Amino acid sequence: MEDVVIIGGGIIGTATAYFLSLEGRKVKVIERDPTYKIASFPLSLGGFRRQFFQKENILLGKFAKEFILNLPKHLKTKKNPKPTASMVANGYLLMFGPDKAEEQYKALINHKECEAGTKNIKGSALTNIFPYVNNEGIETATYTDNETEGWIDPFLFHGALKSKAQELGANFVKGDVKSISEINAKTIVSAAGCWTKELLKDIPVVPQKHTVFRVKCPKYIKEMPLTGDLTTGVYWRPEGGEYLAGSPISTFDAKDLEPEWNHFEELVWPALAKRVPMFEELKLTGAWAGYYDCNKLDNNAVVGKHPKYENVYMASGFTGRGLMQAPGIGRALTELITTGKYQTIDISVFGIDRVLNSTARPEPYVL
Ligand SMILES: Cc1cc2nc3c(=O)[nH]c(=O)nc-3n(C[C@H](O)[C@H](O)[C@H](O)COP(=O)(O)OP(=O)(O)OC[C@H]3O[C@@H](n4cnc5c(N)ncnc54)[C@H](O)[C@@H]3O)c2cc1C
Repeated sequence: MEDVVIIGGGIIGTATAYFLSLEGRKVKVIERDPTYKIASFPLSLGGFRRQFFQKENILLGKFAKEFILNLPKHLKTKKNPKPTASMVANGYLLMFGPDKAEEQYKALINHKECEAGTKNIKGSALTNIFPYVNNEGIETATYTDNETEGWIDPFLFHGALKSKAQELGANFVKGDVKSISEINAKTIVSAAGCWTKELLKDIPVVPQKHTVFRVKCPKYIKEMPLTGDLTTGVYWRPEGGEYLAGSPISTFDAKDLEPEWNHFEELVWPALAKRVPMFEELKLTGAWAGYYDCNKLDNNAVVGKHPKYENVYMASGFTGRGLMQAPGIGRALTELITTGKYQTIDISVFGIDRVLNSTARPEPYVL
């Protein structure tokens, strides 16, 4: 019998393999496509933030930043003594209209209690700090300017975690697991991303196609934060002389990963040009789409031991934030598996009973 088998070698499976290997567990990771062509993590924007509503998500965002900042220390190997995830710590700026302001003021109480270090500003004062923004219709905004949020290269991050896990003894193999029952191990972890329902039919996590556009604008503001306009749901950030901008609409039951090109003219460009007038002049240079691992119940993670099995754990349903939550979730699952309870961040609220009982606990700040 194997010790631990993890199904899925994406960012969650690999982070969990790393933390379990650190604790001396003998880990095997089974991944059906080691090129990760349609896995979510390589197609992500790499953003990490602490600006959420729920405390657990804020704390996982803080954990991510500490882990990424200390990545060379945690993940150096004999082969790669100086690993990097190419962190860009430009911060996040989230803007809210009057309808969302009350909710955001409540979120700020949670930010404070979690010592998130976020700053709040009235919409009318926004241009004092972000002069290129049109503040029309913005009631309140929140941002960080102390290098605690930003983005990383998802592929480099995954590679560094995988190399370290392998150095610690984890074994990554190619294989397509058709059913949990074919695995013979003391502990089984499902880290199958948006394909979780194929293995665990009672978990409402499904693929949700999300399109990102690449645009060029005559003016490039390198230090722009990852900016989310919650009045339209459009978000953007600078990238290598251009900008990346996400569609406000994600779709279920997509037949392929062809970008939703029509979203650009109809939704994204008008929203960008309204909020940042210099974006009137932009030119579309490309696009891609990937799957969010969407928890249809409440857009929040589903993590823990599955109550219907003796030895099956899972982590999925991150709905646009699995990359940044991977270190915290890998750590948390490892604590649960090795000690029976969470030690660093108590994420029992993300437990599986909640989805089996349909008790929603929504995280409103999905980008
Ligand atoms: C366009 C886009 C932008 C995003 N931006 C961000 C962002 O800025 N910040 C952020 O934190 N998150 C972001 N995300 C979300 C993030 O990418 C996901 O939440 C995260 O990658 C989920 O990690 P995972 O390991 O669970 O899933 P994946 O990365 O999809 O990995 C799951 C792996 O499991 C394998 N697998 C599945 N079933 C089986 C099986 N039966 N047998 C063997 N192998 C199996 C798959 O092949 C896959 O490689 C974004 C996602 C998209 C699509």
